[in-house]
Amino acid sequence: MTAALFDSSNGAVVVAIVAAAIYVTVLYVAVAFWMVRDARRRSESFFFAVFAALLGLALPFLGVLIYMVVRPPRTLDEERALLLEEQALTEEELVEHPSSRPCPTCGRDIEQEFVICPYCRTQFARRCHSCGKWLRLGWQVCPYCAEEVGVQSFGRPGRAASS
Ligand SMILES: [Zn+2]
Ligand SMILES: [Zn+2]
Repeated sequence: MTAALFDSSNGAVVVAIVAAAIYVTVLYVAVAFWMVRDARRRSESFFFAVFAALLGLALPFLGVLIYMVVRPPRTLDEERALLLEEQALTEEELVEHPSSRPCPTCGRDIEQEFVICPYCRTQFARRCHSCGKWLRLGWQVCPYCAEEVGVQSFGRPGRAASS
């Protein structure tokens, strides 16, 4: 009686168990395989890939959850794209602000083209009293209209022009 029961209905159960075991095993290997591949995409370290493999094989299905927590947040490709983006931004900034220099009075960074320090109001340029263009303080003659403008020292706007 028990043997008959085993033969007829348990045969199907065994098949189902074997099928489930194969299914779980395939899934288990596939998950571990995915973890290793993902680890290699996220890290150049060989040991991290080994760690992922061990985690996937030692702790079936639980390992992948742990792996998701500890893995690097970005893949190497994403990291590279981010780096390029940052570089592009920095270059853009350099183009926008071609050169800066410290203000001789207050020492803060100001753009080379500034004619006056926005922080301490030190003047670096003055207007040509003949043509109205901005001139550097060190210039003795206006390069636009050839007007003699004399030498003016830093921070004392308008003195040379009036004298
Ligand atoms: Zn200043
Ligand atoms: Zn001029």
